[in-house]
Amino acid sequence: MEKEQDVIVAKRAGFCPGVKSAIDKVLELAAGQKPVYTIGPLIHNKQVTDMLSAKHITSIDFPHQATDKSGVLVIRAHGITPQFQQEIESCGMEVVDATCPLVKHAQNIIDKFARQGYHTVIVGDGEHAEVIGLMGYTQGRGTVVSGPEEAKKLPHFDKVNVVSQTTQKESVFYQTAEEIKKHADMCQISNTICQPTKDRQKETIEFAQNADLVIVVGGKHSANTARLAVLCRELSSAVQHVETEKELDETQILKAKKIFITAGASTPEWVIDRVAERVKQLRASTHP
Ligand code: SF4
Repeated sequence: MEKEQDVIVAKRAGFCPGVKSAIDKVLELAAGQKPVYTIGPLIHNKQVTDMLSAKHITSIDFPHQATDKSGVLVIRAHGITPQFQQEIESCGMEVVDATCPLVKHAQNIIDKFARQGYHTVIVGDGEHAEVIGLMGYTQGRGTVVSGPEEAKKLPHFDKVNVVSQTTQKESVFYQTAEEIKKHADMCQISNTICQPTKDRQKETIEFAQNADLVIVVGGKHSANTARLAVLCRELSSAVQHVETEKELDETQILKAKKIFITAGASTPEWVIDRVAERVKQLRASTHP
């Protein structure tokens, strides 16, 4: 933890191990001779996607969109459905699977219980790429709910396996699982929230509630950053969600006594550093 003039930068801010590994893999591949294609944007962060485009790493939705078939296709950290994986692997191009091992763990748990006849309920965002991928392992018996309120509308199941999107808020997962228990004869609860997300949430709860201002750095379209911002708003009355230092509300920064800076799993370190640097500069200019 870095502490300087009451500006604290979260130790766990920025890239999680899954995202970091996917980016490292892609950059290593881009250093070779072949063009590199990612199936969907590698992460939802404009600064990173701009940097990848500059290195001719192209995001496509389907293998047939690759203009050079001698290139490499990369499956991103979120993972995909097994059906789509099969399609990609049989398209004739070289494939590199950068699915995060912790997403794979969730896929394996769903697969195991779905094969035993369990219905799967995923607590998460049904439109998120990871959840779309997870649904592919449910043997066609899967439902996504965003929280306990939606879970109340579920029908009755003989056997249900409750899993989580890896970046879900832990309290939401357990409240939802409690509700789902009422809808099943047999209920298997598999907390598949990944450890880096749990650690980030724990750190956020500890520091955000003692700050006068929380700055959340990360893409406006990044689901995990948006969720982190929601968590911070529950803990602190003043929260700024910014993509870069240019969006900072300087008046708030000068007024606040204690500032906590954190970031989503898809935010690069250099973006966090620039925000932290700008915050410290501003405060140094008025509190010499
Ligand atoms: S948030 Fe967790 S599961 Fe998702 S890529 Fe990062 S480490 Fe892996």
